[in-house]
Amino acid sequence: MKTETLHQLFLESSGVSTDTRKITKDCLFFALKGDNFNGNAFASEAIEKGAKYVVIDESVYHIPNGKTILCENALETLQELARFHRKFLNIPILALTGSNGKTTTKELINAVLSEKFNTTATSGNLNNHIGVPLTLLKMNSKTEIGVVEMGANHHNEIAKLCTIAEPDYGYITNFGKAHLEGFGSLEGVVKAKTELYRHLQANDKLVFVNARDKRQMKLSEDIKRYTFGEKEQDCMVTLKNASKHVEVLFKGQHIHSNLIGLYNFNNVAAAIAIGDFFGISSEAIKRAIEKYIPNNNRSQLIEKATNKIILDAYNANPTSMLAAIENFKQAEGNEKILILGDMFELGSDAPLEHQHITTFLEHHPFGKAYLVGSNFKKTRHNANHIMQFETFESLSAHLKKHPLERNFILIKGSRGMALERVLEIF
Ligand code: ATP
Ligand code: MG
Repeated sequence: MKTETLHQLFLESSGVSTDTRKITKDCLFFALKGDNFNGNAFASEAIEKGAKYVVIDESVYHIPNGKTILCENALETLQELARFHRKFLNIPILALTGSNGKTTTKELINAVLSEKFNTTATSGNLNNHIGVPLTLLKMNSKTEIGVVEMGANHHNEIAKLCTIAEPDYGYITNFGKAHLEGFGSLEGVVKAKTELYRHLQANDKLVFVNARDKRQMKLSEDIKRYTFGEKEQDCMVTLKNASKHVEVLFKGQHIHSNLIGLYNFNNVAAAIAIGDFFGISSEAIKRAIEKYIPNNNRSQLIEKATNKIILDAYNANPTSMLAAIENFKQAEGNEKILILGDMFELGSDAPLEHQHITTFLEHHPFGKAYLVGSNFKKTRHNANHIMQFETFESLSAHLKKHPLERNFILIKGSRGMALERVLEIF
């Protein structure tokens, strides 16, 4: 079927679905394949639940009712449909990528832009080769600005996502040591993330650049850009305080965010600068930022009866881990304790990167540091305040025997470690 014809069917449908548990009546169901599932096998269920058409790529699943659309590859067809749809959307699209802080920044930007525009943004973390097309297909004639999070763990992914979303604006949150398995090195990360810059430059589009990041300032020298920082930039945002929540000054407004961690100053400043660029008033920007409450275990400050906790168990990589520890070191509070879990997806760098964190802790004594996971377990040190546990269960058993009370605790680890489970112990 021609993309044009499929697009017509899409416009007549209630939207796209790839999950039979979330079918809406009259949607277009795409049968995607994952490591452990084949969407084709769910085609008939999708129809039963009300899908208008199912797009499949294995002919044995054809259902003789005129509702099946057989194609070569359902994923590529979904991407092609999104690419085609983009051309009909006469709106600016802002793309965000980077190693850390994409979702937080995206949500802040979306909150700010929503003060004036009808926006459509990536839901949650749907930022990959499936999520980006789905985000575009959520945009319609009512959408005035699109905000698209783009994630990548390999080269050329961002370049490809750009050919689908065709962004008019871009922002890279940072370059960090994330997904080293796929990128090889920090240089590899820089090269991959700046695929966004190259796409925008080739199309004479604009990038937003955080002037605090010297490398990005250098890399964007020859691109149309709008910079933000504490002084002498297109948009000025100053850090007022970060001892508890991040507070900033912008055009005379004292903005109190609900975000902790100095790194969130960058995320807040980016949202302010982008809002300012799109003509949102400083009062509306303040309102939007102050309303935003982080969720999903990302840098949450939790006050329990016995302990005060910074829960940052959503994910971790060497850069965000060090940023979180540094920030914690500077935060106000006594009896500081760290509970850190393994960082995943580091490939052969895993032993070195975990050792690096342990060595850092050895020389920056906190009250105690509990390190959990098989990688941290293998690291070496000569400090009495560091304790290592192979598994979460062994940590849990220890904490039940020796409960923590009246402490200020930072909890951080990769998603797979699910360290938010610690909260059940206190
Ligand atoms: P993912 O790769 O899972 O999509 P993400 O880039 O969307 O992640 P967030 O979900 O916004 O990132 O934040 C994840 C964690 O990254 C936070 O909990 C925090 O520890 C850290 N972080 C957030 N912003 C920054 C930043 N600007 N610089 C460094 N670390 C950050
Ligand atoms: Mg994200």
